[in-house]
Amino acid sequence: MIYKSILLLSLSIFSNIANACLNSDITIDTQFATARIGQCEQINDKHIQLTLLPENTPINNSPWFGFKISAKEQKQVKISIKADGGKMRYSPKVFKDNTWQLIPFEKHDKDISFSLNVSSEPLWISAQESLNSLEYHRWAKAHAQKSFLNHDIIGWSIEHRPIFKLESRAKSNQWLILVGRQHPPEVTGALAMLTFVDHVFSDSAIANTFRKRFNILVVPNINPDGVYHGYWRHNVAGKDLNRDWKTAMQPEVASVVKYLDNIVKNGGEIKYAVDFHSTYKDIFYTIPEDYLSHNHTLTNDWLDKLEKTLPEFEVRRKAGQNPNRGVFKQFIADKYKVHAVTYEMGDNTDRAMIDKAAIEAAETLMSTLLSKQKQ
Ligand SMILES: [Zn+2]
Repeated sequence: MIYKSILLLSLSIFSNIANACLNSDITIDTQFATARIGQCEQINDKHIQLTLLPENTPINNSPWFGFKISAKEQKQVKISIKADGGKMRYSPKVFKDNTWQLIPFEKHDKDISFSLNVSSEPLWISAQESLNSLEYHRWAKAHAQKSFLNHDIIGWSIEHRPIFKLESRAKSNQWLILVGRQHPPEVTGALAMLTFVDHVFSDSAIANTFRKRFNILVVPNINPDGVYHGYWRHNVAGKDLNRDWKTAMQPEVASVVKYLDNIVKNGGEIKYAVDFHSTYKDIFYTIPEDYLSHNHTLTNDWLDKLEKTLPEFEVRRKAGQNPNRGVFKQFIADKYKVHAVTYEMGDNTDRAMIDKAAIEAAETLMSTLLSKQKQ
């Protein structure tokens, strides 16, 4: 009996079914990639209360939600969402007319609420744009049509989802490394990364020149299990991957570390790395200039250029280092003795500006790396 209830409990955790709402005439569906809620309570026939639950605790406050809602008969439904042990971070969005649109909502101290016109046709609601593994693979496959690009698997997540790379190799041993999606809900950073990579692999004059002089390794989705389950932060082992780089205990991180080690073993030189994330505002977390002597002004030279070419975008930067935290940029600095940056986009940054900034950031990083190489 005990075993049975444990099994049922774990099934409900892993399948993420909204048990309390199953008997209602309103259906909340969470059986798809990136979906997640937690508990569901029907207050009355027009009011649903969701309580978001993290994968484990303690955890960074990034309560994610994703679900599809439908009703037997068309009606207005009020949805209230609160986060267990945290505050709401994301503004609700609905997938409509083939795009994600912000839903007008009220923000209270601990929860948010909004009204939806619900019918038998399910509405897809999400904390941020849903960007799942399938979409990453479609994107990578489209790039892999290019003759200079290699699309391959470099490792596996705990639940056996592929950690894949896109890679272009020049007749050079110098490498630019781009990684992303360590933290599943950080979609604005992921959107920035897609556009950034599109530009680095584009047909523009600078991208063509850059690819002749630098190899580029892109690992865009390091936490595919977390993305699938709609996790707030961690991988399936309950670990923050961006605290794991010093010891590389998690398979997702270990696969990237092993790949980088092989690059270096085969004579490659890692020259720079960018790790894409999201937080409350746009900010670049850098390694202090005096921490490393090699190319110590590279990051600031790049960001100075970005500031000049895109004056409408505020280039905030914060230098910091902590060798023991297991953060990716610090791992790059300590192991390969080169600078790296954590590229953070704001949760609510205008999506057109994310793209604009990513294109300029790619362009100016490539030109900065090329100019340093000539010296
Ligand atoms: Zn992050």
